[in-house]
Amino acid sequence: MSNPKPAAPAAIDTTKPSHFIRQAIEHDLEKGTYAQRHWGGSPGDGPHHLAGAPDPAKIRTRFPPEPNGYLHIGHAKSIWLNFSLAQEYGGVCHLRFDDTNPEKEEQEYVDSIREMVHWLGWSHGFADNPREPGVPQPHKYFASDDFDFMYRAAEYLIEAGHAYVDEQTAEQMRAARGDFGTPGTNSPFRDRSPAENLARFRQMRAGQHPDGAMVLRARIDMASPNINLRDPAIYRIRHATHHRTGDTWCIYPMYTYAHPIEDALEQITHSICTLEFEDQRPFYDWVLERLCEGGLLTAPPPRQYEFARLNVGHVITSKRKLRQLVEEGHVAGWDDPRMPTLAGLRRRGYTPEALRLFAERSGVTKTSNAWTDYAALDAALRETLDPHAPRAMAVLEPVKLVIENWAEVFGSDDHLEPCHAPVHPHHPELGQRHFMLGREVWIERSDYEETPPKGFFRLFPPRIDASGNAVPGSKVRLKYGYVIECLGAAKSEAGCASVVRANIIKDTKSGTPGADSVKVKGVITWVGVHDGLPAEVRLVDRLFTEEQPDAGGRDFLSVLNPNSLHVTQAVVEPSLARAQPEDRFQFERHGFFVADRLDHQAGGPLVFNRIAGLKDSWGK
Ligand code: ATP
Ligand code: MG
Repeated sequence: MSNPKPAAPAAIDTTKPSHFIRQAIEHDLEKGTYAQRHWGGSPGDGPHHLAGAPDPAKIRTRFPPEPNGYLHIGHAKSIWLNFSLAQEYGGVCHLRFDDTNPEKEEQEYVDSIREMVHWLGWSHGFADNPREPGVPQPHKYFASDDFDFMYRAAEYLIEAGHAYVDEQTAEQMRAARGDFGTPGTNSPFRDRSPAENLARFRQMRAGQHPDGAMVLRARIDMASPNINLRDPAIYRIRHATHHRTGDTWCIYPMYTYAHPIEDALEQITHSICTLEFEDQRPFYDWVLERLCEGGLLTAPPPRQYEFARLNVGHVITSKRKLRQLVEEGHVAGWDDPRMPTLAGLRRRGYTPEALRLFAERSGVTKTSNAWTDYAALDAALRETLDPHAPRAMAVLEPVKLVIENWAEVFGSDDHLEPCHAPVHPHHPELGQRHFMLGREVWIERSDYEETPPKGFFRLFPPRIDASGNAVPGSKVRLKYGYVIECLGAAKSEAGCASVVRANIIKDTKSGTPGADSVKVKGVITWVGVHDGLPAEVRLVDRLFTEEQPDAGGRDFLSVLNPNSLHVTQAVVEPSLARAQPEDRFQFERHGFFVADRLDHQAGGPLVFNRIAGLKDSWGK
């Protein structure tokens, strides 16, 4: 897979549906809101950027995951939105690890996040920006690289009277915060002098106080109608080892303070996040305004825009609940093909193209309770895969069919009749698949019915109907082969067909002049017994039976789909012997399948996952 290269200079694409973030960007580009900014070549403070050249990026966005878990389908939307907007408008999107929380973050997650962003087709930083060819490319940024600046900014806020060290207990602070109807009350520590606060804060940094003994708070307004502005905490004590900075720090910035600063140091113009941060925007602006006033940052600061997070039907995206599924063994791991993690979706066989199309179609709105139907993801997959996925025949629940008059028609029981089919029906240039029809073939168990229901046109034996008339056995075509007439079936002890019997009808081979001499209503897929290959096929389905598994506080484990994974021993046509891991196919009649990226090997063992059926089988 190659990375999409941004078009330069990006022409505004008027064919795409507009949305409020697009409109904000276009408005800023028109007005030149950010046109005067400079870029110091790396994240940094106001003077660092001022010393650099005018910013070659027209806008800067960022995707800022916290490296505390695996990315999921919701993140795919955020990734698509941030990277594609930057690409479209001649900008740059940064991949930033929001690693300000020392306890929950791990290198394993950093690596997997990078891998998934790359898999989705995006590289980070300037690498794809044709405006700066040959410039050494920053690939990613870590919020923890900015701890020094965040500390310096905190000291500035203290000195300017905008922050104070509060020694109340957590309970006292909670009680003093008030609630929606009641204003909060000022802390007894709120009016200490800047010098006293600075001394205290330096003690915090020097490790002279235990966790929780005190916090640094912004000094804003304890009576604000927005509770987030009632002197929010900006630094706390945490004697913990950080995955990158080790034991350098024992105080860590709060997310709501760190986030606007990270955006500003990276010269982000449009900071896009999900709606739950809407109430934090006034504090985001407050932090940046104060630091611009103090000359630590340069105006104009970034602006935050909120959109509704992606909710997908039959899917859970809470990291905590996903972890529970893995840890309690309801799935085989983070990359179980039933998981909505990007690792799971990839394993299942979804393509980056399908995920992008899905994200794009799900829209960018402020409607917080909207759910996107899972079927839309499968539709995107079919649409992107159908035009080029090679076709193949596979029998998923095999039963043997024996052609009793084979020797009579072809002279010998060992005769093999060569058959062929196009690799893709609309791409003759992709050539033909070749396989042999012999006396014995595998067919689907469900293609034979002893007493056919109305409208069943596949295999059934001769019989006497309710009015006493003799009805002959059905005639069906073995796809790309001959027409056969069903004679009946031998039954196993359990009463189901163990071997189906039929006669072949001479001169009816597909593609020959006699092909239409016998009209049939049914066509069935098959694989030769002598050249078919055994394969494990994993029929993967939705993990939950309910559209909103955790709605209304329901225990999501109570609605696990017991049939979310069905493993079957299938037989597939010989052309699949060469399939490489992650090759995708359409198995005729069955849907889209991928060679499992971990368990499949060309030459065998062959392991395929069903990505999606040919049609939505969960229709409402
Ligand atoms: P979770 O709530 O599952 O822990 P998160 O939001 O805490 O997810 P982050 O690592 O902070 O995970 O997310 C990185 C970015 O992805 C954020 O900008 C966040 O807003 C965005 N994001 C997360 N989930 C979704 C979603 N369902 N739809 C759209 N964007 C999302
Ligand atoms: Mg988060």
